[in-house]
Amino acid sequence: MSSKINLNRMDMPKQSPKVRKFNFQEVALGYNKDQAKAEAARCIQCKKPKCIEGCPVGVDIPEFIKSINDENMPDAVQSLKKKNSLPGICGRVCPQEVQCERFCVLSKKGAPIAIGRLERYVADWELGHDNEPRPEIAPKTGMKVAIVGSGPAGLTTAAELAKMGHQVVIFEALHAAGGVLTYGIPEFRLPKNIVESEVEYVTSLGVELEIDAVIGKQVQIKELLDNGFDAVFLGIGAGAPRFLNLPGENLSGIYSANEYLTRANLMKAYKFPEYDTPLSKGERVAVIGGGNVAMDAARCALRMGAKEVHIIYRRSETEMPARREEIENAKEEGIIFDFLTNPTKFVGNDYGQVKAMEVVKMELGEPDASGRRSPCVRKGSEHIMPVDIVIIAVGTVPNPLIPSATSELKTTKWGTLVVDDCGRTTMEGVWAGGDITSGGATVISAMGAGKVAAKDIDSWLRKGGAWHDNS
Ligand code: FAD
Ligand code: SF4
Repeated sequence: MSSKINLNRMDMPKQSPKVRKFNFQEVALGYNKDQAKAEAARCIQCKKPKCIEGCPVGVDIPEFIKSINDENMPDAVQSLKKKNSLPGICGRVCPQEVQCERFCVLSKKGAPIAIGRLERYVADWELGHDNEPRPEIAPKTGMKVAIVGSGPAGLTTAAELAKMGHQVVIFEALHAAGGVLTYGIPEFRLPKNIVESEVEYVTSLGVELEIDAVIGKQVQIKELLDNGFDAVFLGIGAGAPRFLNLPGENLSGIYSANEYLTRANLMKAYKFPEYDTPLSKGERVAVIGGGNVAMDAARCALRMGAKEVHIIYRRSETEMPARREEIENAKEEGIIFDFLTNPTKFVGNDYGQVKAMEVVKMELGEPDASGRRSPCVRKGSEHIMPVDIVIIAVGTVPNPLIPSATSELKTTKWGTLVVDDCGRTTMEGVWAGGDITSGGATVISAMGAGKVAAKDIDSWLRKGGAWHDNS
């Protein structure tokens, strides 16, 4: 390692905005070997590495970075996968800037180590090499666990429990595994071959996957427990859309982001006619919201062929919850940001198709409960904005199917499942974690919750199932 500290991080090559706005291929191209080595060489291998404290799954960050610097890639993979079964996904979509990288000591004086980009480099190296790092798998326990949902929470819990020697079956309602990683986040941010290869890694640990299995409808939780499963983990996400409840919201051409992104990604509308999924292109598209989902929907709409795409957000850019990197990418591609703007009603044509939106301008007042300054309407600012597609991306709520079919499961007023610190629900033998308990959050927080639950399920099973004994 170099003795002089280098405070400048290595840039990540990207497709040019002029080119990428017309295709669905990945925007960020990843480091090559020299770039990864140069970035890894900046890490000063702290004796007490703060970066690990910022990682919700506790990856030994300096260890895997040292292996990159030593050009020992099999060890780098091994080190990462000890704690994280989905590194190619996390390296691409985790908000490292508020996690591990925020804690990196170099961030005090310059740019922190690009931990996410290095993580991605290691995962991508593994994809292109015949490298099979086998994690240690404990002797079989004879216990069987059902995991409901194959998003990051379910996949992580499944991988951890399989490594602990339990027999694990994942039940997934859709026809493909991955949860939001597959149906929500677009190909240009998270290629689906990366998700598929990381799902394959989880199944290679011995985890069985049953797709098209809607639990709570075809089979109830109690039936799983009565028919051979010793414990159940619910990683069912928060995938039901939230709407604005404004006049005209039922007009044709108005989509929830959930439906729009599912059609575009899971159902591959962007490959029409190869895939027979209809999705209106639109000339002038408005996306309502300011999070990652809104950015993804807007950038999808642009790539689907819209002439003009607006993000309509009721606060200012400072309050936007989307990752900075994605806001910058969207701006570079020509997405128009209408800050401090809010819709009040939608107007249709004679055929029931949306043709315009009435919007008002907003001003920021005092901070609300979330700590962000709350927006107030500026009087007399109503005006009409012509649009032919509207995508509503103002958040999601938990799908009520399993909670409503299972009276033993208590929910909060937001519809999330009530759990304790170990992920135990109010129903004996049933754990939950990820968006179904936190509400819409992040991939890594769902994975972290899965790890906590897996550890508790394992110790509970080994003790013979002593409920609410956390000792
Ligand atoms: P999910 O990923 O929602 O998975 C739940 C799974 O359970 C689904 O596959 C669902 O089909 C299945 N399921 C539900 N009910 C049943 C049932 N009854 N029976 C069987 N299966 C069932 N986070 C980031 O960290 N970075 C990002 O850049 C980012 N971008 C995002 C972009 C979009 C468009 C969206 C929607 C979210 C984004 N997030 C991002 C948030 C992140 O994806 C979620 O926090 C995370 O996926 C939650 O994981 P989960 O496993 O709890 O649930
Ligand atoms: Fe390397 Fe930064 Fe972690 Fe220190 S805090 S070990 S410099 S990544």
